[in-house]
Amino acid sequence: MSKRKRGRPRGRPKKGKVYTPHLLRGMKDILPEEQKYFDFIESKAENLARSFGFEKISLPILEEAELFKKGVGLTTDIVQKEMFIFEDLAGDKICLRPEATASICRAYIEHGMSNLTQPVKLFYSGPMFRYERPQAGRQRQFHQFGLEILGSDKPVADAQIILFARDFLQSLGLKFTIQINSLGCVDCRKIYRKKIFDFFKSKKTFLCKDCRKRLKRNPLRILDCKETNCQKIVVQAPQIVDFLCEDCKEHFTRVLEFLDEVGVIYNLNSRIVRGLDYYNRTVFEIWPAAVPKQTSEVLPSEEKQGEQTTETSQSEEPSSQSALGGGGRYDHLIKSLGGQQTAACGVAFGLERIVEEIKKQQVKLPKIKGPQIFIAQIGDLARQNALRLFENIRQEGFRIVENLNKDSLRAQLEIANKLGVKWCLILGQQEVLNKTIIIRDMTSGSQELVDQEKIIKELRKRLK
Ligand code: AMP
Repeated sequence: MSKRKRGRPRGRPKKGKVYTPHLLRGMKDILPEEQKYFDFIESKAENLARSFGFEKISLPILEEAELFKKGVGLTTDIVQKEMFIFEDLAGDKICLRPEATASICRAYIEHGMSNLTQPVKLFYSGPMFRYERPQAGRQRQFHQFGLEILGSDKPVADAQIILFARDFLQSLGLKFTIQINSLGCVDCRKIYRKKIFDFFKSKKTFLCKDCRKRLKRNPLRILDCKETNCQKIVVQAPQIVDFLCEDCKEHFTRVLEFLDEVGVIYNLNSRIVRGLDYYNRTVFEIWPAAVPKQTSEVLPSEEKQGEQTTETSQSEEPSSQSALGGGGRYDHLIKSLGGQQTAACGVAFGLERIVEEIKKQQVKLPKIKGPQIFIAQIGDLARQNALRLFENIRQEGFRIVENLNKDSLRAQLEIANKLGVKWCLILGQQEVLNKTIIIRDMTSGSQELVDQEKIIKELRKRLK
């Protein structure tokens, strides 16, 4: 095992110091306050995906490292420097998945899904891992929601995926733009690659260090470089759409016609090339709309949702680096992994980026229904009785809460008040012995004593 170059290995305490555990770099705990956002996004995505006819697939987080080397591509950033690879106890090279499309294709081949009615429409959700330099919008563990249409080469499939992306982000109340391009097929890309290689070679001295390396390995990636100097050169570069063969041109035109048909607004953007080798023909990204620094609160109901602006930013300029999601067509991936020739396309959204955007655009989450009833108790006997009543009332479908750890009634009533609960049930020793319970109206402070066996009826009278 290789040693860390500098300092003490992580997790090993200084001499004489007690070990205190901490998060690994680039990893994040999602605490309940934050989890609400993820739940909101995922439930919207799942419901929408099902309504579009997609079915859920769950895949392992660990895969053979070779899957991504073959699938995502040897020259990509992901495979070159971002994979969490290690040997397992049997000496096999395995990795934490950096994305899910290659895994879905593996599953498609392994489970003979080509025998099912085509296309097969699947969606997934879960953590992905990339050993990147952690920064805003970039973590080493992040979460993606994605969908794939496997077994269709028709432009309508590309359009359906993009339509889903539009509807999904719109349903969250976000403002965004859809950037779309076509990378053509192997044949048109070969010609284009040569064209931009020659073009960038003639400008080599103005390119950043990374782009000079990209020139040999993958000149297309220069097109989405963020460096200002490279961007100035990129605007003069030849555009791939001018080099598409007749079939690819026809495919792209049909995709755009389908999008027009359903009113999806898009920007044609020749700089969208995506970072994964498996794409061909349609590629797209969804960028957050530029949000001016001083915005008033925007509620989904007040503004036209999902308005797809092209306004110039008064804050930071959206780009591939801040993309909420991206995808495209990958017609040769399944074959390159050993399956039959199967055309496919898909999209993946970054959940952390969407959460950040929801906050930035000040979209309000729907209110979760608060508790209706608090049950308070005084003394051990009452606590025992309260636990049973809590369970009975909860099973009847009421939203009841408690803090059975507390002893003082005052402390419990304070909690009930804080939670904004209208009805409080109070049990003391006397009530337990008489099989009664007090119902307190927390607004007026009035109290009523009722038989425990009538409690459900009494609550229903007040709450339903
Ligand atoms: P990709 O698989 O690279 O096409 O990524 C799809 C989406 O996942 C991106 O548009 C981002 O929203 C998100 N994403 C990719 N890498 C990261 C990362 N390191 N941290 C957070 N989100 C990411």
